[in-house]
Amino acid sequence: MQTLQSYVLGRWHTGTSTPTPLHDAHTEEAIAEVRSGGIDFAAVVRHARELGVPALQKRSFAERGALLKALSGVIHEKREELISVSVSNGGTTRGDAKFDIDGATGTLMAYAELAAKLPQKPYLVDGEGLQLGRTARFWGQHVWTSRPGVAVHVNAFNFPAWGMLEKMACSFVAGVPVIEKPGTPTALLAWKIAQLVVEKEVLPAGTYQFVAGSTGDLLEHLGPMDCLAFTGSSGTGAKLKATPNLVKHNVRVNIEADSLNAAVLAPDVEAGGPTYNAFLANVVLDMTQKTGQKCTAVRRILVPKERVAEVVADLKAELARITVGNPAESTTRMGPVASRAQFDDVRKGIERLQTVAETATGGPKPLHPKGFYVAPTLLVAKDAGASVVHQDEVFGPCSTIVPYSGDAVEAARIVALGAGGLVSSCYSNDDAWVEAYVLQAAAWTGRIWIGNDKSVEQALAPGMALPWMLHGGPGRAGGGEELGGLRGVQFYLQRTALQGFKGLLESRFGAPQATPAS
Ligand code: NAP
Repeated sequence: MQTLQSYVLGRWHTGTSTPTPLHDAHTEEAIAEVRSGGIDFAAVVRHARELGVPALQKRSFAERGALLKALSGVIHEKREELISVSVSNGGTTRGDAKFDIDGATGTLMAYAELAAKLPQKPYLVDGEGLQLGRTARFWGQHVWTSRPGVAVHVNAFNFPAWGMLEKMACSFVAGVPVIEKPGTPTALLAWKIAQLVVEKEVLPAGTYQFVAGSTGDLLEHLGPMDCLAFTGSSGTGAKLKATPNLVKHNVRVNIEADSLNAAVLAPDVEAGGPTYNAFLANVVLDMTQKTGQKCTAVRRILVPKERVAEVVADLKAELARITVGNPAESTTRMGPVASRAQFDDVRKGIERLQTVAETATGGPKPLHPKGFYVAPTLLVAKDAGASVVHQDEVFGPCSTIVPYSGDAVEAARIVALGAGGLVSSCYSNDDAWVEAYVLQAAAWTGRIWIGNDKSVEQALAPGMALPWMLHGGPGRAGGGEELGGLRGVQFYLQRTALQGFKGLLESRFGAPQATPAS
């Protein structure tokens, strides 16, 4: 049995607490254990500030980007081994494991390339300068500089690789060292990556620390230059954000939480056309990829009332083609959920949905006598406004059809019942319908994916969070923003308004070259 250790203060540390077992999601066998405890977190934070901050901030943006490129390389080299770990501890199919691991290395590379294009200066210019005085002699200019603090990254269980490395990418470009804490149920993959980081010595001392299990009193030691980037449920996010020490010092907090993402089919979309086919394929992909354990997965499917029967029949036919079983087998399209706790939560969630919705296919019954297997489950809401449908994120292969009139504004209002989401996708060839939907839904949604006949064949799936586009959403989704090119880096930087003699500001703090927007 492997014991997952923490990597803190430049060495591996075995925790002192009672171990938490990690399981193979297919066999339910315990395959590793996590031990927390016994870590001096005040020293961990000091270590990052004293060693990590200067090590990164003496490097240019491009040199920090080169670290990310090297990191991406060492992870990619061990791709096969990491995929096997994900299949076993995460219950992911090989395809799902690649989605996490290749997504992680791809994001590191995207940020390495972005950093390589940034100016050879220790700051970034924000927008145009402007005249403040009677003449242009007194000038104003905004700049971004690195903060001399540490970033604590608390990650969810569902993307042990991508979740950790997409946060690290932004933090490193900004010059901020990290303390990474993975979600415990699938921490084996994150730990294997931590081992590679340490063993290959790709990152300077003090810039990377890894905490297996509990973070103890870590957040009590953060100060005004530090930050917390959290991904997980809205309940945990709200609790961490309210930590008195974080409130007292206005420690920056970014929350990426849960979301009842919606797919909206407009009435104009013809059955059998490219947009309709993409709608079916994307809904099925979202329901079954990573066994529905994706923060961007579609939980609500808005369908014009008169087309519900047709859509149910088509989705059932597509879902019937999904082979559920041992994720290690190449023919399997969907594996188990990641842990016993997930298994219990998803089944209870489906039961709650069944109180307000009819089951079209699937249900809460375990699929196999062993392993955390749940069937892909499609429901149809009896009442479009039922709060369970809009408020209860069932984090598994489960989605509910919500019948609506076909009106774009009504669709957007129904989407807004989710109280803020990461992504909504809409499918229409009627540009006026799309405009009405987007203008009403945008404030409630971090990202809107639009499918029509002209672009859908080239489109990336709506569930993909891309390094160049913002990831995050308002309200229940946490109110945070990650990625989006340079936008995700800015969370780790300080923006300062400089006011003074134009000649000085332009020669010392002007744009040495255009800062790329993303
Ligand atoms: P979770 O139970 O909220 O846990 C998230 C993380 O917080 C885990 O690392 C957990 O550690 C840690 N944590 C819990 N209590 C803590 C505390 N008191 N102090 C410090 N850390 C604490 O969520 P999850 O079950 O891992 O993930 C599933 C949820 O994440 C879903 O709701 C999903 O929608 C959301 N999610 C959102 C995004 C996004 O980008 N918006 C992405 C992925 C997932 P332990 O595991 O050790 O308890």
